[in-house]
Amino acid sequence: MSDLSAVARSVEVPLRKALPVLKERGQREVFCGLTGIVWLHRKMQDAFFLVVGSRTCAHLMQSAAGVMIFAEPRFGTAILTDRDLAGLADAGDELDRICVTLLERRPDITTLFLVGSCPSEVIKLDLDKAAERLNTRLLPKVRVLSYSGSGIESTFTQGEDNALKAMIPLLPHSEEKQLLVVGCVADIVEDQFRRCFDQLGIGPVSFFPARRAADLPSVGPNTVLLLAQPFNGETVRALIARGATALSAPYPLGADATTAWLAAAAAQWNVDAALFDTVTRPLVERANKGLAKYRTQLVGKKLFLMPDSQLEIPLARFLHNEMGMELIEVGTPYLDRQMVAAELALLPESTLISEGQHVEKQLDRVRAAKPDITVCGLGLANPLEAEGFTTKWSIELVFTPIQGYDQAADLAEIFARPLDRRARLKL
Ligand code: SF4
Repeated sequence: MSDLSAVARSVEVPLRKALPVLKERGQREVFCGLTGIVWLHRKMQDAFFLVVGSRTCAHLMQSAAGVMIFAEPRFGTAILTDRDLAGLADAGDELDRICVTLLERRPDITTLFLVGSCPSEVIKLDLDKAAERLNTRLLPKVRVLSYSGSGIESTFTQGEDNALKAMIPLLPHSEEKQLLVVGCVADIVEDQFRRCFDQLGIGPVSFFPARRAADLPSVGPNTVLLLAQPFNGETVRALIARGATALSAPYPLGADATTAWLAAAAAQWNVDAALFDTVTRPLVERANKGLAKYRTQLVGKKLFLMPDSQLEIPLARFLHNEMGMELIEVGTPYLDRQMVAAELALLPESTLISEGQHVEKQLDRVRAAKPDITVCGLGLANPLEAEGFTTKWSIELVFTPIQGYDQAADLAEIFARPLDRRARLKL
């Protein structure tokens, strides 16, 4: 039988002697925050994301999302023309017209996100004001919100943080004791976690974001936050400002971490250790069986994570602690210590963490270290492959369900697959 308090305690390890952090500033190769729309629009099925940007932004969205031309997508780009950029046309009027036309065509949309980009920020197009203006016309049928996904202000997964933060002022107040899982997870993952919480007697439970943007969870002094994604620091701090309390736990990547994550919530609900063991043991056993197959392929392999998705620290912890990989460098676009305190405490003391990026210097370190696998953005993967390095696109990690017991082996396979392919090519 597991000792629940011990499991819960293991996630409350205070940040020990600070790990060495190499801070770098220079050219960086990171997606902008627009990319978050790709998974957010799949999750919130009554929301539309309208990027106010350039053709470059539209191309990014189309290539990242792999648009199906026969489907009615729930994102699009209002392209700023030269006249808008030169201030010769009133971009605000035009934007209002586009939004109204769009919403007339799409009665299924209840929430419209206006998403700022580099061009809209450069010409100082005030999307907060545009949202306010449109709300006076469109509420209560449709709510308009705005946030920035621009590459000037945000990296990759920060787009989700900005989108969720924009929703927080709308969340109703509640005094009820409840669990709020923060961070976008695939529906299949949400369903699995809901089953676990039900079996453990933890609840009520809400997920933020929900499947419908209009289904806003409530928040208040008795709301307990369990974090599913490490990149929503601003959202979490805004929820704490509304009275909520955040649990300290590693993210649910891998079997051990999923147990610790659930245990953090179970401790708050005083779940009996025997019940916790009954519910989780079969899931742990199944996950470990799936992981064993990949552990033999990954153990001892050298891993280099370049900064991109902000998932790098939890991934490093999983791949080292559960898969036995050797960590060469763990890059992160920015180090939000509050969000990854429990993760940092579980990394080996010798781990080199780098924050920010000077891409040329970092590539030199990759070449010197000769890792077995390098996790990086799309822009770096092909050049590194051409030099003979095995890579994994970090974008796959945010598009694939990877959290929880049933996805643990899938997560390991994401790293085992390119190594296997490389080995076959060598034969
Ligand atoms: S928001 Fe900026 S970085 Fe992102 S695609 Fe548009 S122009 Fe490029």
